[in-house]
Amino acid sequence: MGTHYRNFKTVVYIPAQIAEKFTAQKLESDYEFLEKYIGLDKVYLESHRGDCDVSNEQLLMIKSFLEQKGVTVSGGITTIIEDFDGAEKGKRRLFNTLCYTDPAMRLRIKEISENTARLFDEVILDDFYFTNCTCERCIREKGDRDWVTFRRDLMKDVSKNLIVEPAKAVNPGVKMVIKYPNWRESYHYTGYLPDVQSDIFDATYIGTETRSPAYADQHLPEYLSYSLVRFMDNAWPGRCGGGWFDTYQCWSVDRYLEQAYLTAFARAKELMHFQWSDLIDNPFVCAMGLQLGKIDKMLDDVSIPSGIPVYIPHTSAGENHFEMRLGMIGLPTEPTPTFPKNASKLILTETAAGDPDIVDKLAKFVQNGGDAVITTGFLRVKQEELIQSGLTESRPTGKKYAVTRYHITGDEAGYIENKSPVLFPELVHCNNASWSLLNGGDGDLHTSIFLRSAYGKGRLYIMSVPENDADIYKLPTAVTDVYKRTLLCEDIDTYISGRNCSMFAYDDGSMVFYRYVKDDLKPDHVRLHTNKKASILKNVTTGRTYPVHEIRFNEDFEEVTEYVADAVLIPGVFDLYRWE
Ligand SMILES: [Zn+2]
Repeated sequence: MGTHYRNFKTVVYIPAQIAEKFTAQKLESDYEFLEKYIGLDKVYLESHRGDCDVSNEQLLMIKSFLEQKGVTVSGGITTIIEDFDGAEKGKRRLFNTLCYTDPAMRLRIKEISENTARLFDEVILDDFYFTNCTCERCIREKGDRDWVTFRRDLMKDVSKNLIVEPAKAVNPGVKMVIKYPNWRESYHYTGYLPDVQSDIFDATYIGTETRSPAYADQHLPEYLSYSLVRFMDNAWPGRCGGGWFDTYQCWSVDRYLEQAYLTAFARAKELMHFQWSDLIDNPFVCAMGLQLGKIDKMLDDVSIPSGIPVYIPHTSAGENHFEMRLGMIGLPTEPTPTFPKNASKLILTETAAGDPDIVDKLAKFVQNGGDAVITTGFLRVKQEELIQSGLTESRPTGKKYAVTRYHITGDEAGYIENKSPVLFPELVHCNNASWSLLNGGDGDLHTSIFLRSAYGKGRLYIMSVPENDADIYKLPTAVTDVYKRTLLCEDIDTYISGRNCSMFAYDDGSMVFYRYVKDDLKPDHVRLHTNKKASILKNVTTGRTYPVHEIRFNEDFEEVTEYVADAVLIPGVFDLYRWE
């Protein structure tokens, strides 16, 4: 695909302020560093950001230098700007994003788009292309519309009439790319519209910078670096250009690298390293080159990513990132903005309630034989419709249980005591109208934390989400194994019994396992389970094989047969496995 790697291109972004200062000598030495350590296939060279407009002469000097080295050079624009003569003053523009109702700003962004398109055959918009303006003029122009609708209309107009069409008028062959930020759940509040803009822009790109999950502004699970690439690939099939990560708040080399691993495991076509000057003389970059070579070799042997479908309609929010947290406990998930009506298994979080027809779709899905897992957040929002449909009779009461004890019902040894407390919502249900597969309690009381009912040919499961979503990581492995067994299907016939690890599944049966460098920082025993007959488990990366045992046990009053193999996962090491 690139000149340095077979499975992806290595790409670096050059912001305007960096481009402006380049001398030929500095460019040469920086280039040598990047070429030596990560191998440079492509750069996005920015013409405008904030108060900086790089002269065409300087942009052409850099472009020509890099092209002579065999590097592809595309353009970039960051749509932030300082107050300037002619524009209305005194607006409280967070991050200096543009006021897109201001005539002078509209004219200015059109000129920037045209100028950049004259110089480059591909132009990407950095993810400040949102609107948060609530100035007097924007309030007036909004009129009776709500803010989401107003911004939707506004940014459709801006995208078409001020960005893409003017660019194509000066360079008919230019490919216009919109990069979406790592905060999908807020897109519709800020005028980002992947469903509308897919008809306007040629391609998209996605932010996969997860940084420090506990401290970063967007508090993102690490798995987002995989999950959002998959979401955009499903939203704009074949037109997601790549994933974009940076060095910020990455306080260890592993945390930095994990962003690239997961972006690549999702099969992003370009790995965008933001940004040029942060990378120079940075030891992260030295390690990156080594690891990119290993990823590339591993990806030679895997096909298309696969996972349990999670329906994430556009213009939706709620229990944000919970499906990614399931990815962090080893459940491979595949987010999609299209309701996956032909799948056999499905996960719906509160986010899915953004689709006004969701309960009808869900009822048909289950009635036709599908198994759907809904969360307590989804139940809370849709409880009246769900009860009316007959899918469930259960309700959250609003009370909370600090769960220290777990009971896997139907498992003769399924009793787990004295765990650190995790706060769960109380769920009431009618005994024997539905059946609890997992109970969580303290003292003499418990509540169901995983409930099943039947409907038509299929089944509905309700998964309780802890009050702190991230507490899902604290659940005992035997408990999360119940979720994973429930979600086994034709595409995902394996689950990993382990903690603090992810499974990346591919439709040729390949499985990549990765243990995160965090929390309990040591190697860990894991058990891989499959419901398909297997003779050995092979670590394709090392060549090592593991014996497979057949086990039988009771769960939910039925005997289950599984083929299992034990392996060890080391933090920071990814390996490819297959059953044979
Ligand atoms: Zn405004």
